[in-house]
Amino acid sequence: MAYPALHMVIAGERIGVGHRRHHNVINPATGQEIGRVPLADAADLDRALAVAAEGFALWREAPASQRAAVLAGAAGLLIARQEDIAIALTLEEGKTLPEARGEVMMVAELFSFYAGEAQRIYGRTLVRPTGQRATVTYEPVGPVAAFAPWNFPVANVGRKLGAPIAAGCSVIMKPAEETPASGLAVLQALLDAGLPPAVAQVVFGVPDEVSRHLLASPVIRKLSFTGSTVVGKHLARLATDNCLRTTMELGGHGPVLIFADADIERALDQFVRVKYRNAGQVCTSPTRFIVEESVFERFRAGFVERARAIVVGDGMNPDSRMGPMANARRPEAVGALVEDAVAAGARLDWGGKRIEGPGFFFAPTVLSQVPLAARIMQEEPFGPVALINAYAGEAEMIAEANRLPYGLAAYAWTGDAARQRRVARALEAGMVAINAAQVGGVDSPFGGVKWSGHGAEDGPEGLQACLVTKTIQEA
Ligand code: NAD
Repeated sequence: MAYPALHMVIAGERIGVGHRRHHNVINPATGQEIGRVPLADAADLDRALAVAAEGFALWREAPASQRAAVLAGAAGLLIARQEDIAIALTLEEGKTLPEARGEVMMVAELFSFYAGEAQRIYGRTLVRPTGQRATVTYEPVGPVAAFAPWNFPVANVGRKLGAPIAAGCSVIMKPAEETPASGLAVLQALLDAGLPPAVAQVVFGVPDEVSRHLLASPVIRKLSFTGSTVVGKHLARLATDNCLRTTMELGGHGPVLIFADADIERALDQFVRVKYRNAGQVCTSPTRFIVEESVFERFRAGFVERARAIVVGDGMNPDSRMGPMANARRPEAVGALVEDAVAAGARLDWGGKRIEGPGFFFAPTVLSQVPLAARIMQEEPFGPVALINAYAGEAEMIAEANRLPYGLAAYAWTGDAARQRRVARALEAGMVAINAAQVGGVDSPFGGVKWSGHGAEDGPEGLQACLVTKTIQEA
């Protein structure tokens, strides 16, 4: 079970720790250090910026077929390297190995999709009198500064590289320092598939230093960020100073409407599995279960019964169904939110605390009858906690779903076809699942509204977000 050597990649050169500052990478299942990642200084970032400018000049001219071949080649390499990448991902982030394998496959599929989309960047010709011509063309926006978080360290980096590369942009990518090997593996697949080294580079650093430096540079034309709403707002302000295009994938607080006419057992089977995926550290995680009164007790009992059966352990252990949380901050933050909710009057039905021993394990947790005043009913828990409350009927349930400023993923389960359409329309969210417990797909736009951000990744919309329009008028 080898964890790879860590480095930055600037102009295709691997840069190790040397005399630089570094970050210690910890296996969250054991609390042990497994690697050291170098942190960029200002000179490293300036070099990366100069190279990104060259990379853009080169890649914007690359034929669509070349971009497509690189993405398709990288997809094949990710599949061939799936097991090694998945192991590194589990060792540094904690999720179970099957989850990690799935994440690698998702990026392979995304790159395949973008290999196709890269060849479908069409413009249009406007109707003009003979002798005149007007065309609208789509051009790559320019060098992108991309910041990816630690919860899906393969998928988030894949999303932040795939669309810009398809569009003809260059990218300076900063994956999370806590999970560096996953992102490096995605970059390596692209480089090995023939991507010119100037087109995509990976740096690590003190996040605020790196983002301030890159976003202030005249080289960078777009910011792509996934992470918390607080940090997203800060980065959006920096981006505004330089009039950058932005794609912001921020937090969520997934409402789940469970109506009495839903297939309750099927909903429970699906939601309990999805709730505790990646120990709940998922921006689209189903979080607030908004249950119609008459089925509340049944839903709560069924949820607790299933949550109790979840085997928590090291993600490398084939018996584990839920791994540790990704870093030492998370169990502490989730524990404080649970304590606050219980103090406010919530009922703790299961779990609610750290699992003693090494590593950052937190028990699968169910809280019910949670007062709206509790912090956990306002803030994204980003952990293995389900919140289950009872409501009188459709109007109250929709009002509760839309109460928060977040609007990423929302879920509704009902057997009534007219209500399915009504509720899908009423929910303020970028993605809505009806009688399903997961959203997203490589061909569909992934993104939110309100404080969950703007813009989209994946799908044709993700490519569009890396393009600018130009109208050319010829007399
Ligand atoms: P955080 O808010 O400090 O960091 C979130 C992410 O942003 C991290 O990956 C971090 O490296 C990065 N970051 C922080 N400051 C930055 C800056 N100035 N410039 C560039 N990147 C920066 O907190 P955290 O403890 O790492 O995570 C906690 C919260 O973040 C969670 O509660 C959750 O709400 C949110 N989060 C969301 C996602 C998501 O997929 N939307 C992913 C990870 C974390």
